Amino acid sequence: MRPFDHKNYHRNEDRITGDDSPCVVCGKGVKDRPGVLWVCVVDGGATYGVAGTSEGDAGYMGYFPVGPTCTKKHRVFWRGLGYAV
Ligand SMILES: [Zn+2]
Repeated sequence: MRPFDHKNYHRNEDRITGDDSPCVVCGKGVKDRPGVLWVCVVDGGATYGVAGTSEGDAGYMGYFPVGPTCTKKHRVFWRGLGYAV
């Protein structure tokens, strides 16, 4: 699974209203509230970084939110990278 790579990512992102941020997986709007999973993107946007990745790491792009549906759907994947979900 790659960041920003869902087949409907851009369509979903274009539908966002207000100040929600796009889910890094599917592009749907995510409200910034406690409990939202934030995951790191590295390699210039090509892959997810492990939990705790920091700015000095190769191709660091920052942390992006994951919506509740994509958090649940890919729970095993996130856990494999060390995220507490
Ligand atoms: Zn999503």
